[in-house]
This record gives sequence, structure tokens and C-alpha cells, in this order.
Amino acid sequence: MSGPDGADKAPDEFEQIARLYRPLTRGAPEALGLLDDAAVIPARPGFDLVVTKDAMVEGVHFPVGEAPDLVARKLLRTNLSDLAAKGADPFGYFLAVAWPPDADLAVREAFARGLDVDGAAFGVVLLGGDTVSTPGPLSASLTLLGWVPQGRAVLRSGARPGDLVMVSGPIGDGGLGLAAVEGRLADGDGYLKGRYRLPGPRLDLRDGLRRWASACADISDGLLADAGHIATASGVGIQLHLDRVPLSAAGEGWLADQRDVARGRAALASFGDDYELVITASPQAAKALGLPVIGVVEEGRGLRVDFDGAPLPIERAGWSHP
Ligand SMILES: [Mg+2]
Repeated sequence: MSGPDGADKAPDEFEQIARLYRPLTRGAPEALGLLDDAAVIPARPGFDLVVTKDAMVEGVHFPVGEAPDLVARKLLRTNLSDLAAKGADPFGYFLAVAWPPDADLAVREAFARGLDVDGAAFGVVLLGGDTVSTPGPLSASLTLLGWVPQGRAVLRSGARPGDLVMVSGPIGDGGLGLAAVEGRLADGDGYLKGRYRLPGPRLDLRDGLRRWASACADISDGLLADAGHIATASGVGIQLHLDRVPLSAAGEGWLADQRDVARGRAALASFGDDYELVITASPQAAKALGLPVIGVVEEGRGLRVDFDGAPLPIERAGWSHP
């Protein structure tokens, strides 16, 4: 696309930019038609620019052979989830893709189609980027920009003792979905695979977060890990009640097959890829948010976990795949 190495590109690469990528700008003036060295984004008085970046590698972050349009959509959605956690309004993105030797035009078209579908659905435009070739696996990274009213971004560092801890939706579906995608778990109606492949970034909560939340993180590494990130950034302790963590019907079904319910719940809270939000707020603000309360913020440091009132050693809560 744009960039200082543009002059080195083969003619068909310019053709691909015009055909595959320029439509993704949807005429945004900041993208300069992908004809310049860079994008130019006017400052917005009264707003802060929120910037996030996620990268994905085939065979590491998504299964080998995953459909390219799904890879593109998940890449965009995981970045949108980070913006959602900050209470930001999505604006536009920069893309870098390294294509392996077997990525023919059909693969590249499908990837661009995925970005087109979700770019339109979530109201974000392509602003620039670069595509290169690699002898290795497909890897792609996306830098997403969003705007938030000045000083209103919700950080991980704002949790205070006495706050309540909430979660925006069911936990554990991402990890169960990966198991389903890899054929290790039955998934009759495809719900779990869908949760893994196309997570729904919780942008719907951004107004409430800006207004009421003291801290927030999206759940990409697992509820326990990401709640722990808030505790670390805020310099507080967090106590989570595993029995209060909401599960989907599919999650409940998986749990019913586990011999040790506490350990099963700890596993669900340790899987990644949920892309729900973990949120802290004062008890009054929590009431306004109206989300399931799963714990409290306390003095001290680090994460503590209990199940039906009994403390659960945190080392038992580590990652274990279904
Ligand atoms: Mg995140």
C-alpha cells in the first residue's frame, strides 16, 4: 500500500492495492487514496487518540488452513475488543500482511473481503499499511485507531479497593471453541466455533464504561490473567468468586462433564479468546452498569480466587485445554 518501499513494488502489487485495498478506505480522506507515503489524520480537539495493535501468525494464533476471510475478521475484531475496553470509538486501521508463497490471488481477495465485511459492520476504514512476502507462515498485524473524549479512556490502572468486579458475558467459550475447531470437542450447533472464530467486540458498552467504569481490560488471555493485569496495573488485590462467573449453555454443558467442578470453572476462567470485558466500578456505578458481579477489589496485591466460599489455590487455576 503506501510506504517508503512503494517504489520497489512490482506493477501487479499496485494493481492489487487499487483493486483489493483501496475500496477498504471507503473514500476516507485521511487515507489519501493509498497513493501517498503516509496517512494524514487531523487532530480532533477535545479527543484523545487511542491506538492498539495485535498480530496473528498461522499455526500459532489461528489454525493452519483457516479461511482467510475469517482470519482477517478475527484480526480486526480482536483489535476492536481492545478499543472497546478503553471506551473508545473505532476510527481506522493500518494493516501489515506477510503472504506465504502459496497465498494466491484468491486467498488475498478472501482476506480483503473479510476486512471489507467487518470494516463496514463496525464502521472502520483502512488508512494505510504494507504487504510483503515471506517464506514462512501467513502473518498479519493490524494497528487500530479510535477516539475517546479527552481524559475519558478507561485504563487498567483505575481499580480502587471497594470497587466491584464485573464481566460482560459468558466466560470460557473461546477456549472451548478452539477445542471444537480442532475437533477435540463436539459442537452440534456451531455456537462454540463461532465464538472462537468471530468474537463480538463489546463496543456496545463503551458509553457506560466511559461513564461508570474505574478500570477495564478485554479478555484475550483468559479471565484470571486479564483480571490479574488490572490488579497489577492498579496496584490492588482482586478477589474473584468463580461460582459467580457467567457461563453459556455450552459452557455449562462442558462443565457438567467435568469430575471436579471447581477445577472445571478455573479452567474456563483460564482459557483465552473470550473477548468479553472484565470491568471494575464503585458499587453505585456497578449498579448503573448492571453487569454480573464476580468479585471485589481489595487492598493488597494480586489475584485471589474462591469457589463457593472456599479459597482455590491459584496454581490450580492455570491454563488447561479441554
Ligand atoms: Mg487486550
